[in-house]
Amino acid sequence: MGIEPIIGSQQIDARLKHKEEESNEKKRGISIYPFKIKNRYFNYKITSDRLMASAVIDCVLEDEYGRLIPVEYKSMRSKDDGKVYSDHKYQITFYAILLEEACKKACVEGYIHYDDTLARVYITDGMKMYVIRIMSRIRRMVEEERLPPIRVSKRKCNGGCGYRYLCYGY
Ligand code: SF4
Repeated sequence: MGIEPIIGSQQIDARLKHKEEESNEKKRGISIYPFKIKNRYFNYKITSDRLMASAVIDCVLEDEYGRLIPVEYKSMRSKDDGKVYSDHKYQITFYAILLEEACKKACVEGYIHYDDTLARVYITDGMKMYVIRIMSRIRRMVEEERLPPIRVSKRKCNGGCGYRYLCYGY
């Protein structure tokens, strides 16, 4: 809809975290992932005409079988010391959908680097179907130029997405 987020300190922190993690990934001799890495791609741009969607993924790992695995860096602690937040889970699922379309191989896992842990996300068919349903609802909203309902209470919203000025007017 041509609406831009207002970038706050949280997003700037996240960008710094990306840079730091990118350099850590490049320096690492021993893999922290349970598979052999053939290639690592940072800030991986991907578009699907079929799904009318695109993304820039923090890091994509290619394993020895040519499978692509998404990695996301978050500058925050994990949920309850080790768990993944559900919006992060579905973000990585969205990346998996785009990647499996690109490499024509199933993408069934992704990784999230939190400040305190590296979390592995198992991506099921049910999670992919859920994201595809949400994507079609988003496309309809864009076509109809309709804003989504606000689902987060003012108290809980930290405005990390950059759209607080639209939801709450500041
Ligand atoms: S409720 Fe908060 S997190 Fe959700 S879109 Fe609005 S500003 Fe962003």
